[in-house]
Amino acid sequence: DVQVSEDITFDSMLLAPNTLEGLTNAGFYRPSPIQLHGIPLGKCGFDLLLEAKSGTGKTAVFTIIALEKVIVGIGVQTIILAPTREIAYQICDVVKQIGSKYENLNVAVIIGGLPFQEDIVKFKTPVQIVVATPGRLRYLIQANHIDVSAVRLLILDEADKLMYKSFQADINYIFKFLPQEKQVIMSSATYPEELKALMKLYVQNAQHICPNSTNILLGIKQFISIVNCNSNIVKQTQFRFEELLKILSKKSFKQCLIFCNYQVRVRDLCKMLTREKWPAEQLHGKQEQSDRLDALKTLQEYKCRILISTDLAARGIDASNVDLVINFEPPFEWQVYLHRIGRAGRFGSYGRAVTILSKGDEELKFRKLLTKINGSLDLRNLWDDEKIV
Ligand code: ADP
Ligand code: MG
Repeated sequence: DVQVSEDITFDSMLLAPNTLEGLTNAGFYRPSPIQLHGIPLGKCGFDLLLEAKSGTGKTAVFTIIALEKVIVGIGVQTIILAPTREIAYQICDVVKQIGSKYENLNVAVIIGGLPFQEDIVKFKTPVQIVVATPGRLRYLIQANHIDVSAVRLLILDEADKLMYKSFQADINYIFKFLPQEKQVIMSSATYPEELKALMKLYVQNAQHICPNSTNILLGIKQFISIVNCNSNIVKQTQFRFEELLKILSKKSFKQCLIFCNYQVRVRDLCKMLTREKWPAEQLHGKQEQSDRLDALKTLQEYKCRILISTDLAARGIDASNVDLVINFEPPFEWQVYLHRIGRAGRFGSYGRAVTILSKGDEELKFRKLLTKINGSLDLRNLWDDEKIV
């Protein structure tokens, strides 16, 4: 039960009438805790570190702050960065939805994988809010295709991921290029200790907002399911696959996300499942961008029940009917585990997460990994719990 504030509605939060109307259209009436605490401070202009578990509505926090500051008619004022193209699209949709009553508001999404000429066209009319992946935005700034001199708000969604080495040069370039006087908001479900110092370089006296931080896993039941261990990778995969089939057929679910550690595994598994009459879609970095977006849309529009993905879909993806997450193999990092299983149990709905582990080393290693997570970790063996169907 993520938990809206029982007796507080958005209309008591002194938001602009346009924002309120947009929220009503989106079906949002009551703020979640992170929204209740984050929006007022953000509107005041504080730098923020938003920390709340997956599915608690962090997107709306920074969207509302951006909208409440927007001046239509002039150019780019807010830049929202996201680590994957899919998340960027999703954020753009939320901004458009909550901002639907802002007349002449233009929101543009700028991502790699599509021709950049298409991006340039988007700026023929003034765009106020840009949602982007770092690499493409950097390119457009560098090539002087986009004027960012009026930017006053920079938002980093999945901020810890954006601190990874692979993004660092781009983030730094963009950060230094933007006007010095700006508000910075970071948002994530996880803030690994080793990245905190780095993150602090981008904010000033940031307000750290983390309601219910102990309940990071509330709403998600976690299971493991142990299979025999085999040093032959083909045989090991077969063991996992048999287990996967058993889970899919014995446990009920609306929609299921399956995570693998490698792109080839995703592709193989997709074929294998479809052959076994479990039609599945796939999402990974080796696909064309349009196929990636299509796969995600198919899931979000409930046109498929199973999506198999690499960690590309582990973060930020919002598909509200996903109630089962299966780790076909265990992730290598605890943050990734939290983000993966956070795909189930969005905004107060319940979900289940099952991690398939091979007996012995892998199980031990996984259990050790999870000791890094604070809060209650109630791992149960899937088949011990027959009451849950
Ligand atoms: P996060 O980024 O924290 O993981 P999202 O911003 O993707 O979560 O939101 C998760 C889901 O909750 C979305 O489907 C969103 O539409 C829904 N949601 C967000 N805020 C509210 C609200 N105040 N009332 C109802 N639903 C909400
Ligand atoms: Mg999010």
